[in-house]
Amino acid sequence: MQPFTYTRAPDEDRAVAAAREAGAHYLAGGTSLVDLMRLDVMRPTGLVDISRLPLGLVEPHTDGSVRIGAMVRNSDLAHHPVITERYPALRQALLSGASPQLRNMATVGGNVLQRTRCSYFRDAASPCNKRQPGAGCAAQGGYTRMHAVLGGSEHCIAVHPSDMCVALVALDAVVQSRMANGTRRSTPFESFHSVPGDTPHVETILQPGELITHVDLPVSPFAAHSRYVKVRDRASYAFALSSAAVALEVQNGTIRSARVALGGVATKPWRSREAERALIGRPATIDTYRSAGAAAMSHAVARGQNEFKIALAARTIARALQEIGRGT
Ligand code: SF4
Repeated sequence: MQPFTYTRAPDEDRAVAAAREAGAHYLAGGTSLVDLMRLDVMRPTGLVDISRLPLGLVEPHTDGSVRIGAMVRNSDLAHHPVITERYPALRQALLSGASPQLRNMATVGGNVLQRTRCSYFRDAASPCNKRQPGAGCAAQGGYTRMHAVLGGSEHCIAVHPSDMCVALVALDAVVQSRMANGTRRSTPFESFHSVPGDTPHVETILQPGELITHVDLPVSPFAAHSRYVKVRDRASYAFALSSAAVALEVQNGTIRSARVALGGVATKPWRSREAERALIGRPATIDTYRSAGAAAMSHAVARGQNEFKIALAARTIARALQEIGRGT
């Protein structure tokens, strides 16, 4: 591990000022960053500890929307009564991630910025365009069972690992951030993460030193009727083979509005407008749900061992939609 400086930021101004330095990273819960530093995969020259910033509240507003501070712990958010009541898919996604110990440490902001679990990325001896631009991609022609079938490129097919982010895409969340020059901006969650293209090392729209301060959840007619279903190799403490966050507004048996987002199969938290189009205006039946699953995967590209994910993801979507209909 290379030497690094440590700065505990007492307020946002000084956090942003310290993080403006080249090579600096924010430190929140540390559950991902510290691991990657130990593996010599991430080599920050400075850590800016933001754990003392007043960003640890879940604030329900009178209009029904909710503002979540970037330092809210994943476990606290999952068990918050407003999240349980109004955004069940978010609660289910949070509780399906990692282990109780990790959820007690991990923060909302850190989860949004979670790095991939691609085994080649985490092995400093393997070529990886995400870790070292231009180095090549060991996954191409390598073992791809856990890799993406949506959103990949010849330069990277790494899956985005977060469960929480999949639910946030489906729930139309908005990321609030503060840029290094002090300007604040709002970014729809769907636009926040990047597909790899020919720059896999660029994972989000964040500029150097930019700080995530909050995530906002708007009011919607479907959020309370949402579900998160995760399929994985073992019952807990495993990353998704495929997952789906879905939400429906149904009137008189007809779907009026819908959200479908996918995890475990794509290079970013993946909203499927194809699936949503296959749902809206159609009867809320299992046949419609299966059509939505097929539509979501219509542009999927298999690479070697990950071909099974195409059928699995379509079934995951159908099952999640069916669970809303059953009220389970
Ligand atoms: Fe690196 Fe992406 Fe290739 Fe994995 S898939 S080795 S993260 S470039």
